[in-house]
Amino acid sequence: MVKIDLHTHSNASDGTDSPAELVEKAAAAGLDGIALTDHDTTSGWEEATTAAKKQGLALVYGAEFSTSFSGITTHILGYLFDPKDQRINRLFTQVKEDRVHRLQEITNRVNQVYPITWEQVLAQVNGEAAVGRPHLADALISQGYFVDRNQVFAQVLNTDSPFYVRYQAPEPAVVCETIRSAGGVAVLAHPRAKSRQRRFLSSKDIAQLVDAGLWGIEVNHPEQMPADREEVALIAQELGLVITGSSDYHGQGKNNRLGQYTTPWSTVQSLLEQGRTKWYPGKLSGLTLALPVE
Ligand code: AMP
Ligand code: FE
Ligand code: FE
Ligand code: ZN
Repeated sequence: MVKIDLHTHSNASDGTDSPAELVEKAAAAGLDGIALTDHDTTSGWEEATTAAKKQGLALVYGAEFSTSFSGITTHILGYLFDPKDQRINRLFTQVKEDRVHRLQEITNRVNQVYPITWEQVLAQVNGEAAVGRPHLADALISQGYFVDRNQVFAQVLNTDSPFYVRYQAPEPAVVCETIRSAGGVAVLAHPRAKSRQRRFLSSKDIAQLVDAGLWGIEVNHPEQMPADREEVALIAQELGLVITGSSDYHGQGKNNRLGQYTTPWSTVQSLLEQGRTKWYPGKLSGLTLALPVE
């Protein structure tokens, strides 16, 4: 059985492993391939490719786009889009700037209770990575206030907390259209991750995204419980969406294990047939003669 994990993060965003470490760990975990889907950036693709070539691991290029549907934070996974596409890069640039302002605002609020400086937060960020609450969590851990990210999110950084501030983000329909027009494939990430937030897109809301080019939806995900998955699977059936599964691995500080959930090879193949950026097949090259490769 071919095992591919279609949703992972490196320290190009809020994961804790470098892209190369992530690829090495995926190979060591017995996976055949991963998709690298950092938040709002493609900056990890190059390093991941070099490592994938060493490890013989298949690599599917992607990113997780931050969007907002009437104030509901919504993550869209984009795969195999052209990383040089102007509209894609404009989306990334805007969201990355908003993420900085918003994290500064959260940091100011948290600082009233747990003294912490912006410099201490930035010390947790790798280069030009897209910043997020996990970096503030890491700064609070480094100051000894908490033991891990889970604890910080439970006590301080969850969406119900008085410290929480939303970021400005584009609408998911615009993002789906942009991914499509850049030759990519769009998948709605963890639409019922109930431990994270209280408001969710209805199947009617998701139908609008299907009209905008949404192709798939994440059903098997560590933060969706069995009842949530059933609900999402019904939506997928109703709207004709392809079902994916993944770990949403972030390295240390989050329990998600690499390969915890994977996506059937037949599904991955139909995804791979569509993208403009060619994937790297690694040891799967013999299996995939009919598919376009790098
Ligand atoms: P942000 O992008 O700043 O809104 O932060 C959201 C990110 O925080 C998600 O992408 C996850 O990586 C992370 N996250 C959310 N909940 C938790 C949690 N309970 N423990 C660790 N990380 C979390
Ligand atoms: Fe994340
Ligand atoms: Fe997400
Ligand atoms: Zn993710």
